[in-house]
Amino acid sequence: MNETIHPIKVGLEVHRQLDTDHKLFCACPTQLAEKPPERNFFRRLRPTQSELGQVDQAALFEFHRGKGIMYESDHMTSCLVEMDEEPPGILNPEAIEVCLTAALLTNAQPVDEIHVMRKIVIDGSNTTGFQRTSVVALNGLLTIDGNKIPIDQISLEEDAARKTSQTRDTAGYRIDRLGIPLIEVTTAPVFHSPSEVEKVALAIGNVLRATRKVKRGLGSVRQDLNVSIPNGALIEIKGVQELELVGKAVQLEVDRQNALLQIRDELKRRAVQSLAISRNYVNLTSVFQNTKARVIREATSRGGCVLGMKLQHYGGLLGRELGISSLRFGTELSGRATFWAGVGGIFHSDELPSYGISETEIAQVRELLQMATDDAFVIVGDQERRARDALDAVADRAVEALAGVPEETRNAMPDGSSRFIRPRPGAARMYPETDVPPAPVTESVIAKLKNRLPETPEEATERLIKEYSLNAKLSKQLVNSDYSSLFERTAKACTRIQSSFIATMLTETCKSLEREGFAIHDIDDQKVALIFRLVDDGTIAKEAMPDMLKWQSQKLNLDPTEGVNELGLKMMSRSELETIVNQHLEKNRKLVEEKGSAAFPSLMGSIMSEVRGKTDPKLVTEILKKKLTT
Ligand SMILES: [Zn+2]
Repeated sequence: MNETIHPIKVGLEVHRQLDTDHKLFCACPTQLAEKPPERNFFRRLRPTQSELGQVDQAALFEFHRGKGIMYESDHMTSCLVEMDEEPPGILNPEAIEVCLTAALLTNAQPVDEIHVMRKIVIDGSNTTGFQRTSVVALNGLLTIDGNKIPIDQISLEEDAARKTSQTRDTAGYRIDRLGIPLIEVTTAPVFHSPSEVEKVALAIGNVLRATRKVKRGLGSVRQDLNVSIPNGALIEIKGVQELELVGKAVQLEVDRQNALLQIRDELKRRAVQSLAISRNYVNLTSVFQNTKARVIREATSRGGCVLGMKLQHYGGLLGRELGISSLRFGTELSGRATFWAGVGGIFHSDELPSYGISETEIAQVRELLQMATDDAFVIVGDQERRARDALDAVADRAVEALAGVPEETRNAMPDGSSRFIRPRPGAARMYPETDVPPAPVTESVIAKLKNRLPETPEEATERLIKEYSLNAKLSKQLVNSDYSSLFERTAKACTRIQSSFIATMLTETCKSLEREGFAIHDIDDQKVALIFRLVDDGTIAKEAMPDMLKWQSQKLNLDPTEGVNELGLKMMSRSELETIVNQHLEKNRKLVEEKGSAAFPSLMGSIMSEVRGKTDPKLVTEILKKKLTT
């Protein structure tokens, strides 16, 4: 993947959950539920007319689609506030202080008074139909490698409920996450390369971590991107969860927009006019009477039909990759059909035959749609009304392709690409929250926070080098990780293992285990510290540490000592080890007689494969050498 040479403009929003004692507007804890929900309640969101008057088309549409929401709750993680049956309390002062600290660390100007606003959200993720958000500071500046990055604003928001299920008519949400404080840091849109954007995201992450009051682990941090290129459009990409994906997501968005511009140019060459996109859909149900395509069979058996449309001169373009093989122009058409009509998806000519649709069926479709060789077709199997809406959405998107890139809000995927969620919302989506009084930011609070300002990431890096004799690379990696305070606590508590071992484990080893799929981030700090202590007091070997972390990540609630037993990692006594060495010598007596001490490497290898992780290799060397020379 080459970095683009086009000037691209990227704005970044970093959201991170705060690790405060309680939620933003109530006394509930900021931890997610560990047990199944105790009760469900069903709601249909009904914003008042005055509120709806300000809602953009897409939100209005979603509302009118009449989705019901099933909320799941329990008394440990939510109360009447999250259920919207009691007004919110005052803004959590602890959360405000964390935001102000981040503001001071980024040279941002705190506001005089924090006003809570309502931002309309009609997907059901908030029981109220809006998200509460408030600006805490403005106009900061972050210096990264000598470049000055302008910070537009720092806000304090409430996190939304988390989605647990989705059917056609009902969405399920667990409200334990609703109301957890989120800090949002927004950069001004400036020209950047994808790798620079990633650096900025990392630097902001480090500042937030420096407050020592942010959560870590999957779902606790989320990056949104606003990306535009010349002649392209402003695209909002939501929810990039991993820092390592930020650069890739930017690059793939640039590639996507460039690919769409190429499609636009190709359509121009083919002299396609928007009027040529016909909305005369043809009923193709008879073609698919005995089809093997499961989706279509299910639709027709429920009384639905198969509708098809011709996209004149679009042949070959629907299958065209938009920067990555998982995303094609056809995927974009499909996203629109799903959003506006609620269909499961579409089939298009560039991806067929496949999904059980045969050559014969395709030939019949082409004939009924009177297709020429450079035409494409799209078919949908569903209730007729829905199928029609879906093809209308496809036709609209096909027309937009003639102009290039439509403005959209998109959702980040794990591979760095994105999918359409909705058209970009209009600007007027906020209005004041009258239930929460404004919180003044006094001089004395600022003075107090200035007095106990945490060290900057740069200062922390320097100090770790000095205090723990770490090299610069390890020290920087620690500051870039979520583990620098755990490192310090452990390094102070452990007397035998070296600080550099602890640092390497907490950075490189944890990272590579995460990459293998082990959720090391979910392990409690105290448990990790305990595992280090087991190494320090000689209960387990250093080499056993990765296995212990893997085990603990799968048994979050168990005590590490249980892992030692379960995995058989307890270190051997010297006499146990000597017995094993003797067994190996006995087994290889011939080799020993022939080679003498030159048999050491092969014996060492076979002994280690038996005792690895249960003893110190140095001890094996010592015992074996002694036995070979006497
Ligand atoms: Zn609550």
